[in-house]
Amino acid sequence: MSDAMPDFSKGACYLNGTYVPMSEAKIPVGDWGFVHSDVTYDVVHVKDGAFFRLEDHLDRFERSLKGFRLTPPVTRDQMREILGRCVALSGLKDAFVAMVSTRGVPRIYGSRKPMDCDNTFIAYAAPWVDVIPPAVQERGAHLLVASVPRISPKSLNPTYKNYCWRDFVQGLWEAHDKGFDTAVLIDQDGYLTEGSGFNVFIVKGKQVLTPDRGALEGVTRRSVLDLCPELGLEGKITPITLQDLMEADEVFTSTTAGGVMPCARVNDHIMNNDRPGPISVKLKELYWKKHAEGWHMTPVNYADPDH
Ligand code: PLP
Repeated sequence: MSDAMPDFSKGACYLNGTYVPMSEAKIPVGDWGFVHSDVTYDVVHVKDGAFFRLEDHLDRFERSLKGFRLTPPVTRDQMREILGRCVALSGLKDAFVAMVSTRGVPRIYGSRKPMDCDNTFIAYAAPWVDVIPPAVQERGAHLLVASVPRISPKSLNPTYKNYCWRDFVQGLWEAHDKGFDTAVLIDQDGYLTEGSGFNVFIVKGKQVLTPDRGALEGVTRRSVLDLCPELGLEGKITPITLQDLMEADEVFTSTTAGGVMPCARVNDHIMNNDRPGPISVKLKELYWKKHAEGWHMTPVNYADPDH
């Protein structure tokens, strides 16, 4: 990097066709992404200098774009190149890397028509951070089943990744007010869905189960299901009731920004002597071991990010 290069070490962002440090990345207040939450995104991680399941994240991003009728002005190949460049500019070896498309600002002032907006493409690489802090993962997270139900999938398809977090944030307030680490939400029919930024699993004997509804089709969730057979476990996507959750042998959560994150408590249900369960720990270890072995990893090209 030359002396004139901006400092990208705290994150690099692609915005309006140029690369800027994260601290300088801003969107207009009139963007529908901001005023109407009319936006989609995806987040992939980089570990030890390589993307994990990049094509799976791009696939899901494309499904979300289609679902919300967003058309960013870049091709999939360009997205891949921009994401790599953000990481290379930042020099980060462990990062979370976001791709975002907002509806944009209407070309005609005051227009209420979504077709009057030019959709954006924004991307950034930022230093890695765990959704549940490592020390909390170590002792086992304490989950609260929030009293607010998950927003109906009839109103918002949860498989399209979105920033409509009103229900999650309400759940987080309740969890923190009651001394819990984070919250999970139940749907209006009493079935387990997911939490703010993670999928949920329960363990029952050798079965590792995750909800079939109200949740994002997590890439980490997919990875856990792929890895189950290696440990002699049966991974399954299935309806899970509140009672199933409260009677689980173990509970863990999964996300890009944290991997497999064991829990020790759900409400007043204390599991495994208030510690992470053995199967959750094994899955967590295998998940990271697979990373080290190069499973689904695509190395970032850090050479000459200024090309
Ligand atoms: N559910 C929600 C609502 C999320 O926001 C996320 C990730 O951010 C997940 C689940 C986990 O998905 P993934 O494993 O693809 O990161």
